Amino acid sequence: MSECLFCKIAAGEIPAKIVFEDERVVAFEDIEPQAPVHILIIPRKHIPTVLDLDEEDQELLGYMHLVANHIAGEKSFAENGFRLVTNCKESAGQLVFHLHIHLLAGREFGWPPG
Ligand code: AMP
Ligand code: ZN
Repeated sequence: MSECLFCKIAAGEIPAKIVFEDERVVAFEDIEPQAPVHILIIPRKHIPTVLDLDEEDQELLGYMHLVANHIAGEKSFAENGFRLVTNCKESAGQLVFHLHIHLLAGREFGWPPG
C-alpha cells in the first residue's frame, strides 16, 4: 500500500472534504486553509513533484487546470479571480510530495508571494 498521504486520500483511505473527483483527478478542501476557499487538486497518479513530470503527463496537467476552471465556475468565485499555486520542493514550501495545485480564492492576494 502507498505511504503517500494524497494517494490515501485519493483512494478514500483517509477522509477529506472532496469537492470533485473522477477517474483522473481528485479535488478536496485543504485541512489548513490559507484563504476562504483553499482546495487542492491532485492527479490520482502518484507524481512527487513537477520535476517528475514526463511527456505522457502533459494532458493530465492541462486537465487539472480544466478541473480548476470547473470548480471556480461551480463555486462562483471565478468573477473576482483566484490563484493557482504549485510548490516544488523544500525552498518553495512543498510539504506533501504528491503533485498538487492549490486553488485559493475569496480574498486579495499579494504579489510577489511570500
Ligand atoms: P504543499 O506545502 O504545497 O506541499 O501543500 C500541502 C498542503 O496539504 C498544505 O496546504 C496542507 O495544509 C495540506 N494538507 C496536509 N494534510 C492534509 C490532509 N490530510 N487533508 C487536506 N489537506 C492536507
Ligand atoms: Zn501519492
